[in-house]
Formats: sequence, C-alpha cells, structure tokens
Amino acid sequence: MSQTIGELLRRAVGDLQGGGIAEPQAAAEVLLADLLDLPRLSLFLDIHRGLNPLQCDAYAARIWRRLQGEPVQYIVGTQEFWSLSFAVTPAVLVPRPETELLVEYGVKHARQWLSHHRAAMPVLDVGTGSGNLAISLAHAVPQSRVWGVDISWDALQVARLNARSHTVADRVRWIQGDLSTPIRKTVPTFALCTANLPYVTTAEWERLPRDIKAYEPALALCGGEDGLDLIRRFVTMVPDVLASGGLVLLEVGWQQAKTVVDMLEQQGGFIDVGVERDLAGIDRAVW
Ligand code: GLN
Repeated sequence: MSQTIGELLRRAVGDLQGGGIAEPQAAAEVLLADLLDLPRLSLFLDIHRGLNPLQCDAYAARIWRRLQGEPVQYIVGTQEFWSLSFAVTPAVLVPRPETELLVEYGVKHARQWLSHHRAAMPVLDVGTGSGNLAISLAHAVPQSRVWGVDISWDALQVARLNARSHTVADRVRWIQGDLSTPIRKTVPTFALCTANLPYVTTAEWERLPRDIKAYEPALALCGGEDGLDLIRRFVTMVPDVLASGGLVLLEVGWQQAKTVVDMLEQQGGFIDVGVERDLAGIDRAVW
C-alpha cells in the first residue's frame, strides 16, 4: 500500500517513541531523507508525496533496525563531522560533535606554525578510527602531511575510504599499530599531535545506553578502570614524537582534565599545559 511521506513519518515517530528510542523525530526524518536521497528539509516540501511499496518496506526495515537499538549513523552509513560526511561502520566509533574542538584548536595552531615555517606541516592523529580528525585537519590545512594510526585494521579501511572521498588521500598515510609506536622511528617529529583515545571508565561503561554498548566498538571507548590506561601510556610517548614548538591535543572525559594536566606536567618538557572547554562547558581538550 502506498503511503505519503507525512503518514510514514508520523507512524515511525510513534513506533520509535513507543520503543523508548531517544530523539524519535530526528531519527525518523534522517532515516527517510537518506533513503530517498533528499535533504532532510525537503521531506516537508514533499509531505503529501506517496511512496511506492518498495520504498515503504525499505523504510520499515530501517525503523525496525533503529528499534533494535542500532544507531542511526550505522544504518545510513555516514556521520557529519566538521561539515564533512564520513563513512562509518561498526568497526569505528561514530564521530562526536565535541571532538570538533580538537580540529578547531589544531587549525589555529597550524596557522601559527605555518607563519614561522615554510615546510609542509607534519601532523599525527593517534587512534584515528574513521579518520575524522586526520582528514578534517588535512582538509583544513592544505600544507599538512598527516599520519593516522589505529590498532584496528578494519578501522583503517574505513579511514582510507574517507580520505579518498575527501580527496586528501595523497597527503594522509595510515599505519596500523599501538599508539605512536609504529611511527616513532620512520618519520620526522610532528608539529601537531591529536588523539581522541578511549577514555570511558569501567563504571561509566556499565551505565552507557545499550545502543552504544551493543553497537559501537568497545576498543574505541574503554580506557580501563579509571579510563586513562591509553592516555597515560600515550603521554609518556609524546616527547618522542612532538617537534619543538609542536602542540599535542588530547580529548578527555568530563572529570579527567585535571589528572591529564598533572600527567603532562609530571612528564615534563612542555612549555605550557592547559585545557579547553567544549560547547557544553565541559573541560574536553588538554593541550
Ligand atoms: N579519532 C576518532 C574520533 O575522534 C576515533 C576515536 C576513537 O575511536 N576512540 O572520533
């Protein structure tokens, strides 16, 4: 039976709401707009348009997947970050808006660095996942040469695909390995290092919504008992990879900034250490 866009949306929102799914309206709209390959707002210009039974079935299947808890981004296969569209699969964390803070500060630093240096700017992104940070930085700073590292081979395949679709593949290199160990001896030191490493604590993991726990990679989220296992290890490696005058930017959890600042200060060798807040007012990036 053919149904209109308006009817389908109303029904889907009701089903999602009934299933206890957060933000049912947004999910219903995004899943339909993507299926029809329309911008989300166009749904409302076309609200009385009837869809054929195949389209209705395909939409019902998407709503069913969302009702099982699967995140919208894995169903449509993309997430926007820094105004670029990134392919995502369950092998990678879905990029979060607060992580854009690292791009913002990274780009600011790049401008300063480039005003003093003529050479290409080497950038390292550790725990690159979908490549969202590495690729956004490569995109925003044409003079950059970016290395993206991840322990997950499957994640790097997604990152590679994303670099191609954003036409920065010739300036980004992907390397599999643990933190910065695989690149330490092969390339010059870096003017900028970014890392959004796993920082969720064991207790927080227990309380995370089932959508995240069942679908997003634990490898990309869990940082051990206090969440800082990886960040702690990476801090000890930073002096080996950071160029003089370089900047390291670490994303941290809402209660971790002070501890990570202390770690960097104890590590020594940094001219200055500080914290940046995200739009929600949370201390989110330590530099
Ligand atoms: N660098 C990616 C991001 O910022 C992946 C992070 C991760 O997997 N921990 O979203």
